[in-house]
Amino acid sequence: MTAQTTIAATKVDPSSPKLGQLIYSFVSELYPICRSITGNGLRETLQRIGEKIPLQIREVPSGTPVFDWTVPREWNIRDAYVKNSRGDRVLDFQRSNLHVVNYSVPIRMRLSLRELKEHLHSLPGHPDWIPYRTSYYRETWGFCISQRELDGLQEDEYEAVIESSLEDGHLSYGELLLPGETPEEILVSTHCCHPSLCNDNLSGIAVASFLAQALGQQPRRYTYRFLFIPGTIGSITWLSRNEEVVPRIRHGLVLACAGDRGGFAYKKSRRGNAEIDHAILHVLNHSGEAYRTSDFSPYGYDERQYCSPAFDLPVGCLTRTPHGQFPEYHTSADNLDFISAEALARTFRLCLEIFDLLEHNRTYRNLNPKCEPQLGKRGLYRELGGHAEAETREMAMLWVLNLSDGENSLLDIAERSGMRFGAIQQAATNLERHGLLTL
Ligand code: ZN
Repeated sequence: MTAQTTIAATKVDPSSPKLGQLIYSFVSELYPICRSITGNGLRETLQRIGEKIPLQIREVPSGTPVFDWTVPREWNIRDAYVKNSRGDRVLDFQRSNLHVVNYSVPIRMRLSLRELKEHLHSLPGHPDWIPYRTSYYRETWGFCISQRELDGLQEDEYEAVIESSLEDGHLSYGELLLPGETPEEILVSTHCCHPSLCNDNLSGIAVASFLAQALGQQPRRYTYRFLFIPGTIGSITWLSRNEEVVPRIRHGLVLACAGDRGGFAYKKSRRGNAEIDHAILHVLNHSGEAYRTSDFSPYGYDERQYCSPAFDLPVGCLTRTPHGQFPEYHTSADNLDFISAEALARTFRLCLEIFDLLEHNRTYRNLNPKCEPQLGKRGLYRELGGHAEAETREMAMLWVLNLSDGENSLLDIAERSGMRFGAIQQAATNLERHGLLTL
């Protein structure tokens, strides 16, 4: 493969006003699929992503040891329902896949309302929402129901059926490598194990797919690795199979909850002062977007695994409203109305800006370090004062010349000067062209 492998599929124009709509339609396309940490729903999702980008789909057999964990048996579901004695489906998997506790074992039984209620989950505080529940590592079964529907259930003999299978199979995940000029990598990881939930899951999948498409079309210094993996077990599995890749990862981002209307949130890497942390904070700070930051904590998404002590990778987590901090989280209200095309597009553009910064963040050396070089005789200094744009350009050059001692990166200089990275980068390009700066 050449360093500039391009993706032949539909071109992505990051500046197109329709971009948000395109990302949103991809979320809508994936929304009905019943995903889990294994199984055909996950596989179908990866195949749909593979129609946009040349994704490699990996299959890891059940029972494979992955560090302290074991790849679980594969879960698939065809149908599930609860019928009353008249034969009406009072709960129907076909209406919403959230109605079944994800990873429920197969059952077929008759039971009273009291017995049934022991297997029903609802949200009394939000009586119209269906909760999302899972039982990955514990063999059980259950249904999720809105409180209003639960309250309407009469004394009766019910028939509960879950036509699922839990058998030896595979754990599937998707991986895409976009080679760059250097083998050093930027990792982008997103989880794809949730069923019909839009912000937590689908927004990250869709934005990451479009980012991979856009980056595939442009020259790259870094090599990019995109992972579409089931939460927790996916990143553990990937890390256990790719320990030799880990030292090449220079920067990484876990992307999730990318489509709600809230501001951005960035959770720093475990290191807390990695280049990715500074890069994201710089871009957010100059973006005009509302944002908050938090220090690393060992709870959240797959950054927990990437930042486990043996790896301690420079991987942070970028979201809009973080997991658990919006009431719709893990409920049927995290639906297509909860996210917006505009928010998806803004997350996409912010990520591209972060990658662009990392691509251009180099450390230069001033070739004329004994006092300031005479900029005027090189046509780099204005003859008349008072032109704001020229003043900014000159200040940027002075900062770059002063701090380019082989120790400070352009991002360090941007931070110290309080100027935008773009202005500093432009100054460096200009000075390099005039033979005053070298890598
Ligand atoms: Zn979740």
